[in-house]
Amino acid sequence: MKKLSLVAKIGIGMLIGVIIGVLAIFWGGGEFVLNWVKPFGTIFISMLKLIAIPLILVSLIDGISNMTDTSKLSRIGGKTIGLYIATTVLAITIALVLANFVNPGSFISPEKRTELNEKFAKDVQIRQQAAEGVKSARPLQMMEDIVPDNLFTALSTNGQMLQVIFFAFLFGIAMVMTKSEYSAPVKAFFNGVNAIILNIVDLIMKYAPIGVMALIAGLIVDVTGDDPKDALSLFAALGVYGLTVIAGLAFMIFGFYPVVISLFTKIKYRNFFKAIFPAQLLAFSTSSSAATLPVTMECVEKNLGVSEEVTSFVLPMGATVNMDGTSIHQAISAVFIAVAFGHHLTLVDQLTIVVTATLSSIGAAAVPGAGLIMLVIVLGAIGVDPAGLALIIALDRPLDMLRTVVNVTGDATVATIVASSEGELNHIPENVE
Ligand code: ASP
Repeated sequence: MKKLSLVAKIGIGMLIGVIIGVLAIFWGGGEFVLNWVKPFGTIFISMLKLIAIPLILVSLIDGISNMTDTSKLSRIGGKTIGLYIATTVLAITIALVLANFVNPGSFISPEKRTELNEKFAKDVQIRQQAAEGVKSARPLQMMEDIVPDNLFTALSTNGQMLQVIFFAFLFGIAMVMTKSEYSAPVKAFFNGVNAIILNIVDLIMKYAPIGVMALIAGLIVDVTGDDPKDALSLFAALGVYGLTVIAGLAFMIFGFYPVVISLFTKIKYRNFFKAIFPAQLLAFSTSSSAATLPVTMECVEKNLGVSEEVTSFVLPMGATVNMDGTSIHQAISAVFIAVAFGHHLTLVDQLTIVVTATLSSIGAAAVPGAGLIMLVIVLGAIGVDPAGLALIIALDRPLDMLRTVVNVTGDATVATIVASSEGELNHIPENVE
């Protein structure tokens, strides 16, 4: 009998998760799922996060130390940042066109608006408080934050990936500068540890079908709460808004990325898609680009043939700063909330959305729900009361799952384009298992 591929196993896990979740909400088994099923999903996410920082550190040092031409590094860096910003701005522009065309804000009645505002006032407050710290940041704060003053503090939190990248860069470049009699054993060490960490990722992935099953079952129970009818009526009220966001995200996956992949690389989009599909499934199940990162790196390197030098730099950076899906969600949500609150958006407002949504998607953490917190800043910039978040909170988790898929796909796209332009594609993927 033919062995099932990992993707098929994860797919089956998802399906079982959906069945368990739906049965639980209709037969009152929510408590059971939260106590006995969901923890297996939490364990899965913890394992992925556990390996993310060691993986970034070791693979980046290993990657850079293999480079013979370090001027290539600044070229790769420049291309990466340029492409990240360009794709984000383009994504937001597409989202704005869509939001103005569909105008989802006009589909929500004033009564529903008041009802949602009252119902979710407390949840909004929590997000507003979380956004306070970001708003008061100085202009160059982000640059300051990239340079760690203590390596161990940087390594001890999953929220400081850019600091880890910074140190790995410094270490890797210094290693290239060091005489080989001193650097050779260190290089061999990092090379070996890197191979071991990749095997740990493989081991974690064996557990993925169970982890994904538990995550999906737990999510369905969490999102619908104890009243599935109430949840359904909420989703229906927000239907046009949700569909507009989904249309924007779908355009990226099925329109934008295929075009850029076929314009700038020799890879067929179908093969590209197949190669990163496991990472997309995980992005969907975990709603976290950071938790998905180890798998994204493995898919891009092994399946797409992107060199370790490019993968180990472009992807961790992308997980932190490049969020096309999040920026689409922010642009459409900002227009939706503004219109629902009776604001007329001028051209200047729309341009403000482009700038602030770009910055806030860069600043958003790669964890579930981060985009919603940053939306407070976009709304503030166009003079809309952030209390408007109440209108979309109920739908945030499902949309977060989808936008995280786009975030991860965007990172993989840029990594592939950069690698292709630098001759860093080791093979052209054909039939990936
Ligand atoms: N969950 C997203 C990510 O991790 C961020 C967000 O949009 O909330 O990529």
